[in-house]
Amino acid sequence: MKTFYHLMKEVQEPGLCHHCGGCVTFCTAINYGALESGPDGRPRYKDKDKCIECGLCYSICPVVNELDEETKRLVGWSAPIGRVLKMTVARAADPKVRAQGTDGGAVTALLLHLLNKRRIDGAIVSKQVGPFQRQPWLATTPEEIVAAAGFHFDTSHGPEMFSNVYSTYSPSITQLEQVAKKHLQRIAIVGTPCQINTLRRMEVLGIVPSDAIKYYLGLFCTGNFHFGPEQRRRLEELGNFKWQDVHKINVKEDLMIHLSDQEVRHIPLDKLDFMKRHACLYCDDYSAEYADLSFGGLGAPAGWTTVAVRTPIGRAIFADARDVELEEYDFKSEPDYAPRLMAKVLEWSLMKKRHAVEHEESHRGEGGLKVSGG
Ligand SMILES: Cc1cc2nc3c(=O)[nH]c(=O)nc-3n(C[C@H](O)[C@H](O)[C@H](O)COP(=O)(O)OP(=O)(O)OC[C@H]3O[C@@H](n4cnc5c(N)ncnc54)[C@H](O)[C@@H]3O)c2cc1C
Ligand code: SF4
Ligand code: SF4
Ligand code: SF4
Repeated sequence: MKTFYHLMKEVQEPGLCHHCGGCVTFCTAINYGALESGPDGRPRYKDKDKCIECGLCYSICPVVNELDEETKRLVGWSAPIGRVLKMTVARAADPKVRAQGTDGGAVTALLLHLLNKRRIDGAIVSKQVGPFQRQPWLATTPEEIVAAAGFHFDTSHGPEMFSNVYSTYSPSITQLEQVAKKHLQRIAIVGTPCQINTLRRMEVLGIVPSDAIKYYLGLFCTGNFHFGPEQRRRLEELGNFKWQDVHKINVKEDLMIHLSDQEVRHIPLDKLDFMKRHACLYCDDYSAEYADLSFGGLGAPAGWTTVAVRTPIGRAIFADARDVELEEYDFKSEPDYAPRLMAKVLEWSLMKKRHAVEHEESHRGEGGLKVSGG
């Protein structure tokens, strides 16, 4: 039976841990609480004697491949990028939500719809708490959901905020503890592909409190980034800008640095490996292949969000929100747009898979360990 000891050896020591928080959340909720998250977000033993060697932390870890087949079956995954019932483009119907959103505010609009219709009691989202830092948050009111929208760089924090190392990663799964504490029965979760993957593994095992998750909303993801002092300096050089002039950052086909004077600096993503989290170099899921619906800016016109409808549940909630909180792009005058969109998401997904294999091969060449596919 493999336990957290093996996660340390096979996942943490080679630097492959996504810091998704799944192992800690699960161990705390189900067992005696042998694990905790360290100050750097990395899971560690809190009290090794409390480990009952159930092996479930190992099973649900998205980096190892124990539950791959069951998880794929659960969501009807098929090659090459999971099930896609429809690839479309949408935005929030409310211009105020759009203004707040990262792209078209579609994620926020859908969450508002689910809450207004009382299909959920709350949603695990991620709140901006600093220029480059987000914190997971269980939002239970429309105001809280809107407050967590977008990915904005807030210059009002001043230069003292630059003295630490920040990361865009937000360990959303850890908020499941709040769901259990508040006895919420039905929630939606917004997460990166790796987080959705871990949660689906919990669903395969029927583990509480993950049973409260009714809707899985995934975000396209090329990677999460560290914004430490050295990374920020190199980025300034690469993009030829000054941080005090930055208004907002966003990721689509490249890293977009929006400056206060409306100019946008574009930095190619393949130049950003120096600031990518190590685990992200090995990740092969771009489009949140295990979600009910996946969202990204890639391929969408400015102010809109690309949406991959993946499961019948995803299709139903999208249809229910359409023409209420959500506006779908009118493809009538551009019949080749939807196939082009699909081709683009496919291209970026395959590119990420290729890079993951290349990194894995060079890692193994250096004596590293095998990591999962999927
Ligand atoms: C780290 C990261 C990398 C991304 N990379 C790409 C990319 O390469 N290409 C691409 O097309 N799109 C990428 N996206 C997705 C894109 O930035 C938008 O989130 C997506 O298009 C939805 O836009 P929206 O306006 O509909 O969402 P909004 O209505 O603004 O809602 C966004 C939701 O995401 C939540 N959220 C924000 N940051 C995080 C986070 N770090 N972890 C978990 N939840 C979070 C917010 O709380 C909010 O609920 C990335 C997102 C993140 C967080
Ligand atoms: S009790 Fe189970 S879940 Fe917790 S650390 Fe031990 S093996 Fe992992
Ligand atoms: S990837 Fe997630 S489940 Fe695996 S060791 Fe890291 S925090 Fe735990
Ligand atoms: S690149 Fe992969 S591992 Fe990194 S945050 Fe995105 S989904 Fe998670």
